[in-house]
Amino acid sequence: MTDTKTTQSVAGHWIDGREARTGGPVIDVVNPADGTVVASVPDGTAEDVDKAVAAARAALPGWAATSPAERAGLIQHLAARLGDRTEEIATTISAEIGAPISLARFGHAALPPAVASSVAGLADEIPWAEEVGNSLVIREPVGVVGAITPWNFPLQQIMTKLAPALLAGNTMVHKPAELAPLTARILAEAARDAGIPDGVFNVVHGRGPVVGEAIATHPGVDMVSFTGSTAVGKRISVLASGTVKRVALELGGKSASVVLDDADLGLAVERTLASAWTNSGQVCGAWTRMIVPAARRDEIVDLLKAAAAAYSVGDPADETTRIGPVASETQWQRVNGYIERGIAEGARLVVGGPGRVPGLEHGAYVRPTVFVDVAPDAVIAQEEIFGPVLSVLTYEDEEDAVTIANSTIYGLVGAVFGEPERALRVAKRMRTGQVDINGAQFNFLAPFGGYKQSGHGREFGRLGVEEFTEVKSIQR
Ligand code: NAD
Repeated sequence: MTDTKTTQSVAGHWIDGREARTGGPVIDVVNPADGTVVASVPDGTAEDVDKAVAAARAALPGWAATSPAERAGLIQHLAARLGDRTEEIATTISAEIGAPISLARFGHAALPPAVASSVAGLADEIPWAEEVGNSLVIREPVGVVGAITPWNFPLQQIMTKLAPALLAGNTMVHKPAELAPLTARILAEAARDAGIPDGVFNVVHGRGPVVGEAIATHPGVDMVSFTGSTAVGKRISVLASGTVKRVALELGGKSASVVLDDADLGLAVERTLASAWTNSGQVCGAWTRMIVPAARRDEIVDLLKAAAAAYSVGDPADETTRIGPVASETQWQRVNGYIERGIAEGARLVVGGPGRVPGLEHGAYVRPTVFVDVAPDAVIAQEEIFGPVLSVLTYEDEEDAVTIANSTIYGLVGAVFGEPERALRVAKRMRTGQVDINGAQFNFLAPFGGYKQSGHGREFGRLGVEEFTEVKSIQR
């Protein structure tokens, strides 16, 4: 067992290279495993955003004047400083959102430095200056980036913005999610310890409608990079239009795992269940709809039941736990409501169900759930649940499978299992930003982002860096 209580009490804003305490109201950060308060952050205001934007604007000319190679070196230092604090990051995130400690170490804490290193490695690959006929086409920083992030992978979500924005020469004001804000402080300290100049990375805590909206409307912010729900992304688009800011949106998903009739069913079940349930299903790219051939449904259901039995739900501090609570009591109510809705809509429950997990009634523990015979237009097949709930839908032929896969407002990621050439053909027809064939590995250098209402813009890899640049053509 590991102690998941953090040692922090009140973590202030971080402006111009130092902590800025406000002395005003605070937002408590609550451990969803037992309801205890682990720390607090300031309930920030528009004035706090003004101060952070002023610091980011002041730091911009100096930072933008450094070379990409210099900035890449500092980003590598940042990755190393975060690497020094892996255990602290893991226990902090485990306490904030209830992530099992093993997942917190290898997913939440270890991925962000790896992302930072991969971005730093791109410094020589970005076309910073190109000759096009009689033009010199150069890429410059956009300016001050406002980054607004969700709670589900708190450090990872900001790192996929921070590292590329810094490499491109931008400065940043970050608003972390109020539910999981504590690693933003660790990140700010790591940036300072890495030698990144004061004012380049600033953090303002607070609520979306106050601090988030102040960032989205601020005339001193040149770009908003947002990760979160589609509903809030739409609101940010509208708000940012007032000053014609660049907007990048990484939004929700309802991704499909399409199983062809010649697939390795054991592999398809193992990977799909892991995708749907990991981090208690609170993953934007979770494959939450398993689309299977009608003729093989019963075999697949038997395999799902057997695979589900291996998932232990329990205390996130326990090394053997695979599924902890969802991130808050509010989230529990929401996910449980969807499970009840699925039953009311006539879907057949084969694993889990509504209600508390026996023996774990004190925390926000959802029963990991699998529904079968889900209609493609059912609410649980259309809306993002953001909890450990997998819906199994059946199809008659390949055409039908593609139609069902494409039948939601979302298009973030997806999967196909089957003979590789056939699977590739299906993958090409899916209206989605990424597709994994036969459980292929995540690629840090491949662009990630949504089609349709899953957003626009790309993170990761070269396109993820170019997202944070302005392009200027100089004719001579
Ligand atoms: P959310 O949209 O409720 O909140 C995200 C952030 O926006 C938080 O920091 C919040 O405080 C802020 N916010 C809320 N209202 C705001 C407003 N009016 N103006 C400005 N900012 C505001 O999302 P969440 O519940 O934190 O996260 C879950 C959602 O995030 C899911 O829909 C999930 O799919 C999505 N997500 C997407 C990706 C991706 O890469 N596409 C990754 C992770 C999560």
